Amino acid sequence: MFTNTNNIQPFESKVWLSSPTMHGTEMEYVKEAYETNWMSTVGTNISEIERVACEVIGCDYAVALSSGTAALHMAVKLAGVKPGVKVFCSDMTFDATVNPVVYEGGSPIFIDSEYDTWNMDPVALERAFKLYPDVKVVIFAHLYGVPGKIDEIRKICERYGAVIIEDAAESLGATYKGEQTGTFGKYNAISYNGNKIITGSTGGMLLTDDKAAADKVRKWSTQARENAPWYQHEELGYNYRMSNVVAGIVRGQYSYLEEHIEQKKEIYKRYREGVQGLPVQMNPFDGEKSEPNYWMSCLLIDKDAMCRQVRSEREVLYSKERGKSCPSEILEVLEQYHAEGRPIWKPMHMQPIYRMNPFITADGNGRAGTNAYISGSGSDVGADIFNRGLCLPSDNKMKPEEQDVIIDIIHRCFQ
Ligand SMILES: *Cc1c(COP(=O)(O)O)cnc(C)c1O
Repeated sequence: MFTNTNNIQPFESKVWLSSPTMHGTEMEYVKEAYETNWMSTVGTNISEIERVACEVIGCDYAVALSSGTAALHMAVKLAGVKPGVKVFCSDMTFDATVNPVVYEGGSPIFIDSEYDTWNMDPVALERAFKLYPDVKVVIFAHLYGVPGKIDEIRKICERYGAVIIEDAAESLGATYKGEQTGTFGKYNAISYNGNKIITGSTGGMLLTDDKAAADKVRKWSTQARENAPWYQHEELGYNYRMSNVVAGIVRGQYSYLEEHIEQKKEIYKRYREGVQGLPVQMNPFDGEKSEPNYWMSCLLIDKDAMCRQVRSEREVLYSKERGKSCPSEILEVLEQYHAEGRPIWKPMHMQPIYRMNPFITADGNGRAGTNAYISGSGSDVGADIFNRGLCLPSDNKMKPEEQDVIIDIIHRCFQ
């Protein structure tokens, strides 16, 4: 199947990692907002997408906000995070998962990932609760559209009386035991950022079954105005509400959510077929319990098939070896051919900004409380996946022929 001719041509138009896919319907709703002059943060597009989100996801309340990060910030406030409060957070994720904790003066404690779904490891979480039994808030993300070990994590959180905030920004439409992600925490966030499975160019939503919580977010996100004849303020407010224009794009996109998931699933399956025989695996999921939204197709290179790769804070060096490769090489070669990949999210415990925060692993390695690594032969799953993994071009407008070329390029990297 894989030809060994050397004349692969760079793609004429770039193959993106995950770019917005518009259908025309979006424009109709945007136009409607324009023509009826509902150009602010009130209007039918907003109320419609809040209704549709509840219907699709299966939650009672959805509040449309300016971004997923804003939704997470509101969730963190609802959960009562205050200065000095410790919060257990997914470690290998986008920094938007954890930054809102710090906005409120809270202190993130990072929980290592597991190899089965690349999400928060329940074993590490259990250990964290033994070390910090007073923690009352857990934020966990479903990376790349793959639901994490929700049952296990919920059970532990129930036992310790902790509130779950689900960061379902990447997993909209993914299900776990038939239920949508974004319904398992008390306060949950989704995102309509430009590279997500559906987009409003920007935007997000807070999801909850708690009416009082939803009402609070509606109030906080519109500068916390009290019910008075003038601008009366009794608590801190934010300008976080979604625009009715953005909501028009989201509204148009919702009817294509299933189609986007189908396309992404085909891409994932095509890669899985195509990389057979190579010393790699695709980003895994528990097929018995969950159906991902396949937002991002990722690769993990086998340990003994890794060529030497050394990453400093901002730079990387690798040396080509026969029969081996590494994420840096594959990303570099993809770029030469005009295709966009991306490294795995660099774990939060490895980020300079969070270097002083505790990091809890399943077996006791990592660091607890101070900047010192506890010595031992234990594992750091996040660092390992970051080292050996990468995101492949996963754009749902990528043609099968283009994907074949990308697969061919990956094969060549291992020659
Ligand atoms: C995209 C993303 C967010 C933030 O969403 P924005 O809408 O970009 O603010 C949060 N968490 C994760 C895991 C994300 O991928």
